[in-house]
Amino acid sequence: MPERLHDKPLGIFGGTFDPVHFGHLRLAEEAADQLDLAGVRWIPAGQPALREAPQVTAQQRLAMVRMATAENRSFDVDAAEVHAAQPSYTVLTLERLRQADQCGGLRPLVLLLGADAFTALTGWHRWQSLLELAHIAVAHRPGFPIDVDALPEALAACWRERFCSHPAALAEAPAGRIASFAMTQLAISATQIRTLLANGRSPRYLLPDELIAYIRNQHLYPEY
Ligand code: ATP
Repeated sequence: MPERLHDKPLGIFGGTFDPVHFGHLRLAEEAADQLDLAGVRWIPAGQPALREAPQVTAQQRLAMVRMATAENRSFDVDAAEVHAAQPSYTVLTLERLRQADQCGGLRPLVLLLGADAFTALTGWHRWQSLLELAHIAVAHRPGFPIDVDALPEALAACWRERFCSHPAALAEAPAGRIASFAMTQLAISATQIRTLLANGRSPRYLLPDELIAYIRNQHLYPEY
């Protein structure tokens, strides 16, 4: 059944998750808390459109996201992109979620982005359509300050026009607003983890132990 405007907003969290780590998990957890979301839907990309092919298969990245989020009742995982034949574009994902048999047109959706992803937004396919389909909430990320004056002009204009300082405003419309939130700063990246693994070094305490065991047992990354 299509959901309604007065339902709490649903967080949408896409990524390559190669592999998923505590930076992602804290982002989703703190977004749900600070933005008063009904929950967060994790959407692992199948073939990411804007970057090199991930080292591990989409099914393995999906399995890691499922494992990492299984115990959290506010999280669910959408596997549709993993099984799609074409590259993952967020705008198409959001159009799919807006269909009547998914979230429908009225449910507030909040696309969750780290600051690095947000500052690169103008490179995304049909980026201006994203805000017709969802709100955007930007998480602060170490090393990626949000300096509005340094953003591409069109994105800075968008920010100035649409920024709301009270997250409650996200519940009042289906889409179109921008918010930011300060999450626990964790300078963890999947790149860092892949580099550690490639050098046979330990990634402990950067991602859940059971994922490290899975990575090791499945020989997902060479050398580890
Ligand atoms: P990579 O290093 O391979 O580029 P990543 O760690 O940035 O990967 P992605 O799967 O590309 O992870 O990111 C998914 C989303 O999570 C993006 O919006 C990104 O900005 C955000 N994100 C990833 N790590 C962090 C972090 N440590 N703090 C805040 N946001 C993060």
